[in-house]
Amino acid sequence: MGVLILIFKHMRQSHLFTKTRREAPKDETAKNAQLLIRAGFVHKEMAGVYTYLPLGLRVLNKIENIIREEMNALGGQEINMTTLQDPAIWKKSGRWDDEMVDNWFKTKLKNDEEVGIANTHEEPLSNLLKQHIASYKDLPKYIYQFQTKFRNELRAKSGIMRGREFLMKDMYSFDTTEEAFKDFYERAAQAYAKIFDRVGIGEITYRTVAAGGSFTSGYTDEFQTVSDAGEDTIYVDEKKKRAINKEVYTDEVVAELGLDKKALTEKKAIEVGNIFPLGTKYSDAVGLSYINENGKKQSVHMGSYGIGLTRLMGTVVETLSDDKGIVWPESIAPFKIHLVSLGGDDEVNAYADALYKKLTDSGVEVLYDDRDTSTGAKFADSDLIGIPYRAVVSKKTIDKGKTEVVERATGKTEMMTEDELLNL
Ligand code: ATP
Ligand code: MG
Repeated sequence: MGVLILIFKHMRQSHLFTKTRREAPKDETAKNAQLLIRAGFVHKEMAGVYTYLPLGLRVLNKIENIIREEMNALGGQEINMTTLQDPAIWKKSGRWDDEMVDNWFKTKLKNDEEVGIANTHEEPLSNLLKQHIASYKDLPKYIYQFQTKFRNELRAKSGIMRGREFLMKDMYSFDTTEEAFKDFYERAAQAYAKIFDRVGIGEITYRTVAAGGSFTSGYTDEFQTVSDAGEDTIYVDEKKKRAINKEVYTDEVVAELGLDKKALTEKKAIEVGNIFPLGTKYSDAVGLSYINENGKKQSVHMGSYGIGLTRLMGTVVETLSDDKGIVWPESIAPFKIHLVSLGGDDEVNAYADALYKKLTDSGVEVLYDDRDTSTGAKFADSDLIGIPYRAVVSKKTIDKGKTEVVERATGKTEMMTEDELLNL
């Protein structure tokens, strides 16, 4: 379930129960999971199944809050739906069938009746809305959640980017007409672009035409982040910020988008999100309709809008890390400042303690490495964890009356006064 409040704004590293490690598990081949496990953000339970540790949960919560703000700005209303699923509802659309959905996890009640374990929520949400939508006056409605999805994926080799259990934001739109739907769909596409900008991968993420959907055109839109770790192949126009998935890459689609084949380059990419016209497929299946201005019964027009939060987190690690470790954008970093005290004598400790207090009193999010370990180990851990600014306190910096601040992304080093650090 979504956690609204960050549990703590700051922390002493000596209290953090997680430890960094030199080696990732042998069976972990994906860079994102290797780094996240080594740095103590996630724990691998088994293939495709990961636990989020304090640092990892902080990142997820920040991603979640950015998405929540943008979904609320669209007029979305947040709910939390069930994991256990009633087969009767899914049989109405035909999607209970393993031939139709090949990655269901299913289980049984004590009385031997089957239940599903949620992998998406079109059917149950449309079904529950029958209680609340009767007239055109009840529409449009946009409803979303952050919910753990379960999918029996054949391959789980991409670390947290393809989980058998993963956190998704799924929004569903309910409109009176196809025109109203299309208008919202475009607004949702813009909100998605904003989300990917805010989490730091906007420049390398492209709205991409893909297969599926129930528009007359028969297309959907994916948001694809260029990365060699991606499972998809896309054709990108970098200037126009558009792309086409290989599965629908034809002369017609290129022309429809007003693109030129010569300007397109083939890239590997990660699908971080997608938006999907559903037409009236699910509303008709479960019997969700409304009465229009003329008293006539009409079908509700739907769309679905997904973002894999855990995949997004993995994508940031894949695309922004370097050979020393993770590089978090400030917007989703577990902390803003990594305060590192060196030397371990009383004077340095007292100075660093006081600085920690000042920073935390003024609301800055700080991880304070107050551990009694070597400079080398502290710096290596700090690079691995990837907090945007490292503030170093040592005998040398105290003598200068300043703190040494290193920007993780660029390595840029600057001596800062306390005020400068507080206003960073
Ligand atoms: P894919 O094509 O990668 O299998 P999908 O098209 O089935 O994904 P949806 O069911 O529409 O994806 O899910 C919405 C979003 O959830 C995707 O865009 C992706 O970001 C994320 N997602 C899907 N499957 C997984 C998974 N197994 N692990 C992590 N995130 C996932
Ligand atoms: Mg897909």
